[in-house]
Amino acid sequence: MMRLPPFTYVVPRTIADATRALAEHGAEAMVVAGGTDLFPNLKRRQFEPTVLVGLRGIRELAGVRGTERDGLAVGAMTTLTAVARHAAVARDYPALATAAGLVSSPQLRNMGTLGGNVCVDTRCNYYNQTHEWRKAAGFCMKKDGDICLVAPGSSRCWAVSSSDTAPVLWALGARVRVAGPEGERVIPLAALYQDDGIAYLAKRPEEIVAEILLPPADGWASAYLKLRRRGSFDFPVLGVAVAVRLEGEVVREARIVLGAVASTPRETPAAAAVLVGQRLTPDTITRAADAAAGPAKPLDNTDFTHPYRKRLVRVYVARALARLAGLDAGGASEEVA
Ligand SMILES: Cc1cc2nc3c(=O)[nH]c(=O)nc-3n(C[C@H](O)[C@H](O)[C@H](O)COP(=O)(O)OP(=O)(O)OC[C@H]3O[C@@H](n4cnc5c(N)ncnc54)[C@H](O)[C@@H]3O)c2cc1C
Ligand code: SF4
Repeated sequence: MMRLPPFTYVVPRTIADATRALAEHGAEAMVVAGGTDLFPNLKRRQFEPTVLVGLRGIRELAGVRGTERDGLAVGAMTTLTAVARHAAVARDYPALATAAGLVSSPQLRNMGTLGGNVCVDTRCNYYNQTHEWRKAAGFCMKKDGDICLVAPGSSRCWAVSSSDTAPVLWALGARVRVAGPEGERVIPLAALYQDDGIAYLAKRPEEIVAEILLPPADGWASAYLKLRRRGSFDFPVLGVAVAVRLEGEVVREARIVLGAVASTPRETPAAAAVLVGQRLTPDTITRAADAAAGPAKPLDNTDFTHPYRKRLVRVYVARALARLAGLDAGGASEEVA
């Protein structure tokens, strides 16, 4: 049986206390929200903090606030179940409700939070293994080693951004309120990420994500499709988030963001540009899907072969856009190969 390593558990009641504790303990400390990803990772010794700062006791971090006119503010500790079932989220940001409802399993969605999902660790076949497995195979630079086992000549880690909600929030134009010992700042969600499998979050370690801010839905329609091996639960090996603002039948703005194709969610502006000023017809959808497939360069470090995952980018973008156009009724938004 894999056991948790010993650690001190700190229970702050305010955001200020949490960020102060993180600053005080430096590299020894980590945040824990629902713990659904972090605790298994601790058991596999992918992280070895001696202090965990739990956010559960901070009341202001939980819940959904706001209005249709002003947009919604979702506290980082709001559970994925609560996000998926929230009436205004489901009505105005259906892709977010879908993505939150497709994360892992019901039990984990009851514990897992939106903040934890946005900050969830990147993944790789050579890293998401037990300590014994990694020791036998040879450690890699993401933990305990100094080379990349996927791309041995590479000076960087290519572990894959595997959050379901991050590409959706990016496509919806969400922002995040980040709090640190020196105060708070609001940044586009896109600016929270950087293309590095190890340092995948562009925030300081003592900062926490406090809130996710959704702009007014205001004519935007959205959809999310996920490729994974098992329909019951599994991380995405491809996520496709599409959002378009329509005036009548004409697309005025569009965003297409891919998940699980790089160490960060990957926006495909050239594909979105194909749609602007056009109606969502089979022809424009095909051209946008072709343009989206180009920037997706999945590596051979997660489930399914990388040529297959790349091929499915085109298919899934086309299906997601067809769904927005009412050309593909689909069943559940999830797709299982
Ligand atoms: C079997 C299994 C299947 C899974 N399937 C999926 C899946 O399909 N899709 C998916 O997206 N995820 C999946 N996960 C991962 C995980 O359950 C979810 O990503 C979940 O949303 C993580 O949220 P959490 O609150 O439990 O985060 P935690 O596990 O508590 O934390 C995750 C990471 O985020 C950091 N963190 C948490 N909250 C904050 C915050 N507010 N500010 C700053 N940093 C923070 C933690 O330090 C940690 O590094 C799966 C996990 C398991 C074990
Ligand atoms: S991409 Fe390379 S360095 Fe990163 S986790 Fe995988 S094997 Fe390790």
